[in-house]
Amino acid sequence: MSVKQNGETIKAEIEQICARCGRDPDEINIVAVTKYVSVQTAQEALSAGFVHIGENRAEGLAEKRDSLQGEAVWHFIGSLQSKKVKKVIDKIDYLHSLDRISLAKELDKRLAFGNQLKCFVQVNVSGEESKAGLAPVEVIPFIRELEAYQGVKVVGLMTMAPFVDEPEETRAVFCKLRLLRDEVQALQLAHAPCQELSMGMSNDYQVAIEEGATFIRIGSALVGRESDR
Ligand SMILES: *Cc1c(COP(=O)(O)O)cnc(C)c1O
Repeated sequence: MSVKQNGETIKAEIEQICARCGRDPDEINIVAVTKYVSVQTAQEALSAGFVHIGENRAEGLAEKRDSLQGEAVWHFIGSLQSKKVKKVIDKIDYLHSLDRISLAKELDKRLAFGNQLKCFVQVNVSGEESKAGLAPVEVIPFIRELEAYQGVKVVGLMTMAPFVDEPEETRAVFCKLRLLRDEVQALQLAHAPCQELSMGMSNDYQVAIEEGATFIRIGSALVGRESDR
C-alpha cells in the first residue's frame, strides 16, 4: 500500500475512534515518523499532507530536512545527547524527549535569545528499565526546576508504552500520563502550559487516542519500514 493509502486508512480510523469517544479529530496531530524510510518515502508522506515529520537521530533529521520539498513541522522524538543539541537546535520545532536538567541547560544555552523550544517531558510510566524518561513522581519537581531555563517551554508530556501483543494492556499507561498532564496543567505554570499528550505509535495509537493523545507518532503503519533503525 502507498503512504497515501495508509494515511487514509489511519485517518478514517481516527475519525471512528473520535466519534466513539466524543473527541474532535482535529485535536489529533499525526507525526509521521520517517526514521525507517528513505527521503523519497518521507516525501510521499509530506506530499500526502502529513506535515509533522519525526526523526530520532540528528543525522536523519538533517538529511530529511535538507531534502524534503514543502513546509514541514519538525519533531525530534529520540533521546538526544547534549553534544548533539547544537546540530538539531535550529532544525526542530518540537522535542519529545526532554528527560534531564542538563539537556534543558544545553538547549537554553544554544537557543537564540528570546526563542523558545516546544518540549515534551518524557515519562517512563511503565517503569521498564530499557525505557528513557522520568519516573512519574519526578515529573512535577522536574518541571518546576525547568522554570530556570527560559528557552524551554513545556507543551506536554510524552511516553512510550511497553510493546505488547494486546494493545488494551497499554491503556493504564496512557491513562496515567493523562492524569499526570492534568496535574501539571492545574499548576498553571507560565513556562509549562502542558496541554499536549504525545503518546501512541503504530501498534497502540487507537488506545492512546481514547485516553487523550494529541500527538500520535506513527512510523511503520504509515510509511512502512525500509531499514532496521
Ligand atoms: C520509532 C518511533 C516511533 C514510531 O514507531 P512505529 O511503531 O513504527 O509507529 C514512535 N515514537 C518513537 C519515540 C520512536 O522512536
